[in-house]
Amino acid sequence: MSSNPQKVAIIGAGVAGLAAAVRLTAQGHTVDVFEANSYPGGKLSEWYEGPYRFDAGPSLFTMPQYVQELFALAGEGEADFQFERLPVVCHYFWNDDTRLKAFADAKKFDEECYQVLDSEMGAEERLLGEARKKYDLVGQLFLESSLHKLSTWTNTHVLKAIRKLPQLDVFSNMHQVHKSHTQSDKLVQLFDRFATYNGSNPYKASGLLSMIPHFEHGFGAYFPKGGMYTIVKEILRLAEKQGAKIHFNRKVDEILQDGRKVTGIQVGDQKLYYDTVVSNMDVFFTYEKLLPEIETPNKILTQERSTSALIFYWGIKETFEELGLHNIFFADNYQKEFQALSEQKIIDDPTVYVNISSKLNPSDAPQGCENWFTMINVPYSHSIDWDIEIPRIREKVLEKLSRILKRDVRSLIESESILDPRGIEAKTSAYLGALYGSSSNTLFSAFLRQANFSQSLNGLYFCGGTVHPGGGIPLCLLSAKIVAELIDEAE
Ligand SMILES: Cc1cc2nc3c(=O)[nH]c(=O)nc-3n(C[C@H](O)[C@H](O)[C@H](O)COP(=O)(O)OP(=O)(O)OC[C@H]3O[C@@H](n4cnc5c(N)ncnc54)[C@H](O)[C@@H]3O)c2cc1C
Repeated sequence: MSSNPQKVAIIGAGVAGLAAAVRLTAQGHTVDVFEANSYPGGKLSEWYEGPYRFDAGPSLFTMPQYVQELFALAGEGEADFQFERLPVVCHYFWNDDTRLKAFADAKKFDEECYQVLDSEMGAEERLLGEARKKYDLVGQLFLESSLHKLSTWTNTHVLKAIRKLPQLDVFSNMHQVHKSHTQSDKLVQLFDRFATYNGSNPYKASGLLSMIPHFEHGFGAYFPKGGMYTIVKEILRLAEKQGAKIHFNRKVDEILQDGRKVTGIQVGDQKLYYDTVVSNMDVFFTYEKLLPEIETPNKILTQERSTSALIFYWGIKETFEELGLHNIFFADNYQKEFQALSEQKIIDDPTVYVNISSKLNPSDAPQGCENWFTMINVPYSHSIDWDIEIPRIREKVLEKLSRILKRDVRSLIESESILDPRGIEAKTSAYLGALYGSSSNTLFSAFLRQANFSQSLNGLYFCGGTVHPGGGIPLCLLSAKIVAELIDEAE
């Protein structure tokens, strides 16, 4: 319990804003959350298209322990948050009819890679072993602590990790690291794909990020009971139970300050006074829109953004036995796909991801039907004419899926809605529709991300996918944890 309870305003009810509300109320602070939308969750939302339900954004759930921690903080049993571990993490498809199941069981996965991808026996286990080693050495440093506090760097665990720097492949890129472990191009492609988990490019991102597969295969991939949106509903319930007040349809227009100290927020024509303000909105817009007296730091303006997405939400009037919850249909030329993305283009044969939550949550689609969340990575650009690009890409995606699945998918679509980078920006205030804020394409990306506290204004903190430690649900939850710790340390 805090010895100095604060009155805290949180801007945004994204997953990090809500998690911060649970943590700060548990520490004894009084918390108000202001959300511009009429619903919670930001990028992690849901919608209905006739009889079909879709999780609108995130579909892959890893590291459930960070949600369980919130249950424990709110005095509930960890087991009250229900989820299941996926025995098959992902179904992979290639244009040449190769099909592979990524089993959660490491031995089975390795055997499958050996049989199907013609990889060396043990190659997949070696790649996962490398990922685990990197996570064990520096995962805690990069993900669970503020990189911008001296105390982080004087910790003995960190000093030990720094001595092991040569083992971290920081000066190679992810693709080079993966290639050094196997001759199988398809296995390399499968591991390179993990760069997209934070919207990065495996041919540019530091080899350090080859730890990402450990999140999915080491800690496991999960599905929350009821679907991804349950995560938001449950964290919201915990926050409200703890006494946090969530104000929907309340867009914050300014963060108020007096000299170097935050004094509150402005919502419409109302000035509301708080000791502490936590911004969960995109950090670019926090500076550009809410802090008129502070110049946006150059690093926030110039950092390359992560990729965005084009999503087709299709109600499909048949079922596909060969598909699972997560399905990837790879591009033939992965390097060309990432090169095109960095040139603000989309190739004719993009990698397609299909998520079907009705496989595990049957009520998400009518009987005999499936809800397909069909997504490709696209540039974060506003310079693309989406009204021209979307019909072109839609045709390419349908042609690819129909060819590989040997069924005319087009004729099975009975409902459709589409989300593009413009919609992602409009719905969630994500600058340029980037899914994860800035990309992690340079060695120093982690250090260039906004710290979880403001260096220019006392009492201002930042959480969410656009600040340290980065995007994705687990990292957003960790940003809330770091912020809650910083607020109590500052007392
Ligand atoms: C299509 C897509 C697929 C993804 N896939 C995955 C995945 O599979 N797994 C995974 O872990 N992650 C995935 N992500 C990333 C993940 O969704 C995000 O990193 C995470 O949800 C971001 O949460 P956040 O806390 O930063 O808040 P956000 O979701 O960014 O929400 C911010 C909130 O702030 C509100 N807001 C903004 N401005 C104001 C204002 N002025 N006043 C009041 N409120 C304001 C917004 O309305 C919004 O509700 C995906 C994202 C997308 C879009």
